[in-house]
Amino acid sequence: MDQENDILKRVCGGCTACCKTHLIYEISKPWGMWCSHCSIGKGCLIYADRPSGCQKFSCQWLLGFGKEEERPDRMKIVVDSIFPTPVGRVYVLFEVTEGALGSRFAQDTTQLLLGNGYPIYHVPLRGESTVHVPPGFFIPAGTEFSIDGRKVAKVVHYRAAGIILPKSTG
Ligand code: SF4
Ligand code: SF4
Repeated sequence: MDQENDILKRVCGGCTACCKTHLIYEISKPWGMWCSHCSIGKGCLIYADRPSGCQKFSCQWLLGFGKEEERPDRMKIVVDSIFPTPVGRVYVLFEVTEGALGSRFAQDTTQLLLGNGYPIYHVPLRGESTVHVPPGFFIPAGTEFSIDGRKVAKVVHYRAAGIILPKSTG
């Protein structure tokens, strides 16, 4: 979304991945579809007037997560973080291209974050979202996992490290 991280000097550059993955309330842009204002791989055509949701957003890569070469448009995954939620901070992996949640990058990232004790949402381009719950994680009774008001259909609990993730069915 044409943002910049002053500390790391990371910039969106040619990445416009979140202009596909994310829901933008202000312009009724749905999940998983290119925004009509996006010049794909170049930037926002209404940059000066883009919605506040776009102005405020930075993905985790832009904030310093992962390697320089793991920019979301290259990995086909946008890593986001949501806080607060009823279960604290959760990380979200949004698919940019169908099947990307089955990639090595998505699996390694999920394992890394589960290993650090965070629940992870997987949001495929099509189909239902899944939440992956790390070993020993306490979920208060009655907790409903949802993301932007959309209920997460499937909850997968892990009992131990050495996690093997199911392939995306997206
Ligand atoms: S996904 Fe991240 S790097 Fe790519 S355009 Fe959005 S904020 Fe920038
Ligand atoms: S308005 Fe611009 S920054 Fe926001 S999603 Fe659309 S193209 Fe991306």
